[in-house]
Amino acid sequence: MSEAEGQQPPAEQQLPTYMIEGARSSRSRCKTCRRKIDKGALRLGILIEGPYGVGYMWHHLNCAARRQFDRVREAYREEAWLNAKEPPSKLPSLEALEVMQQKAEEKRRNKKDIPYVEIDPSGRAKCKHCGEPMEKGSVRAVLGRGVYFGNQVRVAPITVHPRCVAAELEKDDCETEVEGLIDAMRANSGEFDPALFAAAVADIGELPEGEPQPAAAGETIDIKPDI
Ligand SMILES: [Zn+2]
Ligand SMILES: [Zn+2]
Repeated sequence: MSEAEGQQPPAEQQLPTYMIEGARSSRSRCKTCRRKIDKGALRLGILIEGPYGVGYMWHHLNCAARRQFDRVREAYREEAWLNAKEPPSKLPSLEALEVMQQKAEEKRRNKKDIPYVEIDPSGRAKCKHCGEPMEKGSVRAVLGRGVYFGNQVRVAPITVHPRCVAAELEKDDCETEVEGLIDAMRANSGEFDPALFAAAVADIGELPEGEPQPAAAGETIDIKPDI
């Protein structure tokens, strides 16, 4: 079966602006999350006119709902699933997709830049460094850890005890810079009680040395030999 993607339709054929269907192959990639769209997964095609003609840009239906809900609403209004060769047998309701969009937006609004400190809200999480529980109401630090997907790396937030920060920073997969750490934490932590912040900094204690920086003119740097 042929794919609409990248294929120039005959001039007389008018393609609809939207298409909602189960992916007919697993060759398309979601333009929102950049991941592969599995065969059969619901996808939204948005017709675009490029320099080489018209074609569909595909998105996971859920990804489109999270990021460009207006287009999804339009596609539903036009019943874009009727444009599919084989209309999908099951579709989420527009209301369910809207809830998804609202949650995604809330998450984006609440998202803080890493690193930061926060108060442990539940007492249920464990320190991702030492594995010991964290106490409800205590201060915890959020650092970035590199997570690999094939050859891509994403930075995932991990929560650790302040006393575990220094050791975590020395790990190879830690994506948080030692350089300027405390300033970055202060800037990213929002309205955080200064006394609690100072206590957390004291718990963090001495930080490992960052990568040696190139010396400015007239300065010398000490590089400790590896022991
Ligand atoms: Zn996606
Ligand atoms: Zn710990």
